[in-house]
Amino acid sequence: MPAPAPIQLAPRHVTRKLKLGNVEVGGDAPISVQSMTTTKTTDINGTLQQIAELTAAGCDIVRVAVPSQDDADVLHIIAKKSKIPVIADIHFQPRYVFQAIEAGCAGVRVNPGNIKQFDDKIADIARAASDAGVPLRIGINAGSLDKRIMQKYGSATPEALVASAMQEARLFEDVDFHDFAISVKHHDPVVMIRAYQLLAEACDYPLHLGVTEAGPAFQGTIKSSVAFGALLAQGIGDTIRVSLSAPPVEEVKVGVKILEALNLRPRHLEIVSCPSCGRAQVDVYTLAEEVTKGLEGMTVPLRVAVMGCVVNGPGEAREADLGVASGNGKGQIFVHGEVVKTVPEDQIVATLIEEANRLAETLEAD
Ligand code: SF4
Repeated sequence: MPAPAPIQLAPRHVTRKLKLGNVEVGGDAPISVQSMTTTKTTDINGTLQQIAELTAAGCDIVRVAVPSQDDADVLHIIAKKSKIPVIADIHFQPRYVFQAIEAGCAGVRVNPGNIKQFDDKIADIARAASDAGVPLRIGINAGSLDKRIMQKYGSATPEALVASAMQEARLFEDVDFHDFAISVKHHDPVVMIRAYQLLAEACDYPLHLGVTEAGPAFQGTIKSSVAFGALLAQGIGDTIRVSLSAPPVEEVKVGVKILEALNLRPRHLEIVSCPSCGRAQVDVYTLAEEVTKGLEGMTVPLRVAVMGCVVNGPGEAREADLGVASGNGKGQIFVHGEVVKTVPEDQIVATLIEEANRLAETLEAD
């Protein structure tokens, strides 16, 4: 019997579709994961190496910083050699926007609040982007809101973020340009969630979700997961970027896992492990960690259960593709619900990895 289709929590909020190189964003396109390189963009090899690492981890679109003329000058090489679409991230200097478009970048992120005389350049930017088929992102950040908006709202409230985004959107609409996504980022997930809800009510532009300055890996992962989960569960969001004070590959791993957890991206390796308790007859933490490490990079969908005792162990192990229920210094190994062998505790990890690889080969051959 074929596996049932994964449950979806909500119909997707209807948005326009953009095309960034070969990746679609918005409409019915799969929700994409983005990240941003941390290398100096002028370090071409270092930047391309990092992009390759992000791509391997599941990143769909990458952004690179363009703070100087030297960075703008190497964009054409990076855009050409990257396997995934490159977005140029531009603050302060509108002339780099034109250079990024000419360089073959798949998209440009602009922060109008940080670009002086931005309003005067709108028509030129829109024409250049339109001629090249390059979408833009209007990236509104709580930390760089337009002064007039701040005066009106007093602080970066959800309403202020949305008013700022819609004000910029209208400038592009006035010159008949609609090929852009919008983000309204805030460090507080509650403010951010509300802002995106309001924005989804106000427009049909694709929404790029982000909790900005979310913090170190643990805190940032929680904040982003809560905020993205709340919005994506309502069908809001077309592309996501997890921001962590950690290497960008960690951002991508978290982003991918968020989408997998919500059935918005096919699940690959999934470890079902118990939290352990006073009944545990094996060191569950070490076991789960070693199995996770041993199976890192597996690309086929596989659920592996690592359970500490016989209370829930056999049940969970039976439900998974592969599992172990431990007890009395031994591990019962289950494959697709059947016990295939019982091994001593010190062979559990090696046996699970061996069985997982065997199952992966079968799945890949199918
Ligand atoms: Fe405790 Fe056993 Fe449940 Fe693990 S499976 S949490 S060891 S009762």
